[in-house]
Amino acid sequence: MSKNPTSSLCEAWLDRLSANGYRLTQPLQAIVDILASSDHALSPVDIFDQGRRASPGMGLVTVYRALEKLEELGLVQRVHHPGGCHMYLRAAHGHEHLLLCTACGRAEYFAGDDLSGLMETIASRSGFEIREHWLQLFGLCQQCRGD
Ligand SMILES: [Zn+2]
Ligand SMILES: [Zn+2]
Repeated sequence: MSKNPTSSLCEAWLDRLSANGYRLTQPLQAIVDILASSDHALSPVDIFDQGRRASPGMGLVTVYRALEKLEELGLVQRVHHPGGCHMYLRAAHGHEHLLLCTACGRAEYFAGDDLSGLMETIASRSGFEIREHWLQLFGLCQQCRGD
């Protein structure tokens, strides 16, 4: 077992991709490395900019295809940004909610909320049987607040 959690996550993703029949090209490995180690939600163009440093021949289409595969396999998830663009982040482990800094894209998952009271209220008001929820909070991280 690797001691570095980032590189073992990266290896686990590459294993999953290869087990699902994907060829582990250099650009794909660079993209996996970026997403597995990032604590920021990244747009496809962000990934492209960073990826070209490691893999100069990388094209933007490769980034979109890789994101599609990684999303299909549940390894990354799409994050909504108030600016309207889609960003990508490593998927949550189990049930976690997301905090996103709207200034720099820093993203953090958190667990341990108790929304059951709110869910019950919404269910009884709407008549819905609520089975899942996905909560994303927007704000400014500590760095962007200038603290
Ligand atoms: Zn920030
Ligand atoms: Zn919850």
